[in-house]
Amino acid sequence: MPDATEAVPCAIPEVELTIDGQTVRAPAGATIWEAAKAAGIDVPVLCHDPRYRPVGVCRMCVVDVGGRVLAASCVRPVEAGMKVTANSPALDRHRTMLTALLVSEQPDTPAQARPSGNLLRGLAERYGVAREPGSGDAARGPLGLPCGAGRPADASSPVIGVDHQSCILCDRCVRACDEVQHNDVITRSGKGYKTTIAFDLNLPMGSSSCVSCGECMDACPTDALVNKTLAAPIRPPQELRQVETLCPYCGVGCSITAHVDDERNKVAWIDGRDSRVSDRRLCVKGRYGFDYATHAQRLTTPLIRRDAAYPKGPLSSALRQEKGRRPGGLVDYAEILPHFREASWDEALDLVAARLRGIRDAHGPAALAGFGSAKCSNEEAYLFQKLIRVGFRTNNVDHCTRLCHASSVAALMETIGSGAVSTTFRDIENSDVAVLTGTNTTANHPVAATFFKQAAARGTKLIVIDPHRPDIADHAYRYIRIRPGSDVAFYNGVMHEIIRRGLVDHRFIADRTSGYEALCALVERYPPAVAAQIAGVTEEEVVDVACTFGEAKAALIFWGMGISQHVHGTDNARCLIDLVLITGQVGRPGTGLHPLRGQNNVQGASDAGLIPMVFPDYQSVQAPELRARFEAAWGAELDPKPGLTVVEIMAAALRHEVRGMYVMGENPFVSDPNSNKVRKALATLDFLVVQDIFATETAEFADVILPSSSFFEKLGTYTNTDRRVQIGRPVLKMPGEARQDWEITCEIARRMGVAGFDFPSVEAVFLEFCGLTKSYAGLTYEHLGREGKLWPCPDPERSDGTVVLFDHDFPSGRGKIVAAEFAPPDELPDAEFPIILTTGRLLEHWHTGTMTRRSVALGTIEPEPYALMHPEDLERLGLADRQWVAVTSRRGSITLRVRASDAPGRGAIFIPFCWREAAANVLTSDHLDPYGKIPEFKYCAVRVEAAPDESATSAAE
Ligand code: SF4
Repeated sequence: MPDATEAVPCAIPEVELTIDGQTVRAPAGATIWEAAKAAGIDVPVLCHDPRYRPVGVCRMCVVDVGGRVLAASCVRPVEAGMKVTANSPALDRHRTMLTALLVSEQPDTPAQARPSGNLLRGLAERYGVAREPGSGDAARGPLGLPCGAGRPADASSPVIGVDHQSCILCDRCVRACDEVQHNDVITRSGKGYKTTIAFDLNLPMGSSSCVSCGECMDACPTDALVNKTLAAPIRPPQELRQVETLCPYCGVGCSITAHVDDERNKVAWIDGRDSRVSDRRLCVKGRYGFDYATHAQRLTTPLIRRDAAYPKGPLSSALRQEKGRRPGGLVDYAEILPHFREASWDEALDLVAARLRGIRDAHGPAALAGFGSAKCSNEEAYLFQKLIRVGFRTNNVDHCTRLCHASSVAALMETIGSGAVSTTFRDIENSDVAVLTGTNTTANHPVAATFFKQAAARGTKLIVIDPHRPDIADHAYRYIRIRPGSDVAFYNGVMHEIIRRGLVDHRFIADRTSGYEALCALVERYPPAVAAQIAGVTEEEVVDVACTFGEAKAALIFWGMGISQHVHGTDNARCLIDLVLITGQVGRPGTGLHPLRGQNNVQGASDAGLIPMVFPDYQSVQAPELRARFEAAWGAELDPKPGLTVVEIMAAALRHEVRGMYVMGENPFVSDPNSNKVRKALATLDFLVVQDIFATETAEFADVILPSSSFFEKLGTYTNTDRRVQIGRPVLKMPGEARQDWEITCEIARRMGVAGFDFPSVEAVFLEFCGLTKSYAGLTYEHLGREGKLWPCPDPERSDGTVVLFDHDFPSGRGKIVAAEFAPPDELPDAEFPIILTTGRLLEHWHTGTMTRRSVALGTIEPEPYALMHPEDLERLGLADRQWVAVTSRRGSITLRVRASDAPGRGAIFIPFCWREAAANVLTSDHLDPYGKIPEFKYCAVRVEAAPDESATSAAE
């Protein structure tokens, strides 16, 4: 099968030249510096980095060409017969002089422990150049940074210090920002000696549009841009230990190197590392959001509720964030401790096993349920669902995939028989058109977004379709703001026009699909005029999307939760799949379907069977032959009925049908819809055990809390949005008596008397999982190495795995085209609740904020709750930017500040769901999509008014 990430042999002609007397062959068009590097000849650089466009401004890399001219080797192309001197006494004198001039302008500051090193200091050492004391400007600015005349230091960013006096104007930061991250924030300002780098229109960095990805800081060859988050006092870099692992946050799964201070058990800093996933790129969470793991609020000892009669869950005052009190509104360990007592592991685990077994035996297996987590590893997810199925004897096991892409998976399984992406996100480089719909990629998948922006810069037409205008629309060929909840009508209109214009792929339809005629009959009723009217767009916009997509040679669709989190989420996804099937845009490089996965391991947790209706590898619990296979493997009789989903489990708890729960690493009180209902359900349980790293809002309802391992403390595999299975490696020691999650699950199983949980290592768990999961078959930790493998990987010894799936057929055989009729959202605005609420994530805070709000850098950048509303709506309601407002739905009310923004569009308000003290899910509806059982987080009706009280609150009843 084609593999778009494998190197393709090229037929570029080579030229022969000599460098320092050595005969060298290099591809035509290569630079002298590239040819020298490939031949192992060292030519020093300062402004150059192979990841950026060469500019040749610093002249450090000049070489002698033919004895006639000194040329900057980073920009001068090779020529046949060229005679180059790259190293000579004369060139050394030139480089020494250049270095001395640059060093003389440097301030008297001690060397910073720079993640990427200080190239200029390195050259000074190499050429024996010492700076004359007092020759630079040693005046001190804020934070001890030096400030030169007319070039003051800028300490406004919470994470990056700017020292213009150390800047040598090499433009590496400018190119890193423009060409790698494609944020276009940094430029130059001023003239002569006063020339500086500048942010936007010469704003302080902290007030500019900088997204704090740190790429510029990583690129800087001096101490002009420095990492302010380094934990002081920092040990010298050579005393730190380097661990190659992964970012713990989103589904992109970026590759990182953690630099670890073992003596203090702290991560000193994080770098991006080279890989097929992220190419050294990181976002603000990946680079700066690691310190949560060593936060003082980590749980360190098992806790047992002191007084069973004490009301469970947070008191209303605990959900209140008064001004000036406990930034972040986080639950402090000390605050819950009066309600719990510390216990030994034996006592806590025995109690958990006895209570869960007691409920199962007294009330039947269906009285138990478990929530696993998409933040946990494949091994942990596999063991967790095995315990629920074998030990609890029920399929009542689910996780937050139910809340993000359950409807996408339902549609994909129904139509093509596979719930995973058909190609990787970096395959966009082979697309001439890419649709991004219902996805705020720059916030939710920031590093993937850098590749999308890069593709757009190279000519791929991005079509961005979303009621909430995402920042990536700035890079789009076309942005279309459809009315919230009108996706089906819009895409039916697009397909109507594609069919009418004959832009369908008749051969693909005939050979590989079914259901085309029924689709034609249905979309006949959605001519562009009708679709445009329902979707609130112009006819021309519908027609243009149809023509651009229909005429594309290779087109790809990315979608996010703006598509899936609706009561018609499955219909929305069906339309996207139909669009691809009728145009034959799947199975080739640059084509296909990519639902961008949210959490770092939501793909893997689903693959591992953390889903109530399927065993690992999406094998139905209802199919007798599949069930028999798992019964044989696990040595237990298994429940043939699909279990309850996340929201259904809460409803059953409220009816006291589910009485006992095991929650590992999830925080349903904040993440699930209609929090007041969730609060009652959790408080109604006879027994709740929560296994987590912090005392989450959900843990406040627990009878037993088990302290577990953070991402940075464990070994395990994680599967990113591309299907890439990667190893996360332990970086830190666990605090106190905290234990590994996989071991805790096995302990509970053993104490419940369940066989099959005696594993000698976490890799042994992986091997059992792979043995039952066709798509992971044959993988081992050794194969996964430092970059992981894409599944399926038929030849793990030699291949990286399969990039493009479905080149000949679908797992279901023919692709089933399923026509969908438009229907409105569940709860439309009315006179009492006239505004549409949509919820989502922020760049800086992940999910329910349990980790990111405990990161100093991330908490400093975004410390308090806020909502976004269109400026015209604010004016109409008599509200001002940053004013406190009360937002009320039929289910509850919250107060928080509102910011003016045209992202949500008129008539809508956007609230991130990460704030416990202004919890958006107090407002949301728990009505479900009938197929995916996903709630409508993207649409409910609210009213917005000035708040009398200036504090963030939630859960008012
Ligand atoms: Fe981490 Fe995702 Fe950011 Fe990559 S894009 S650094 S995986 S949060």
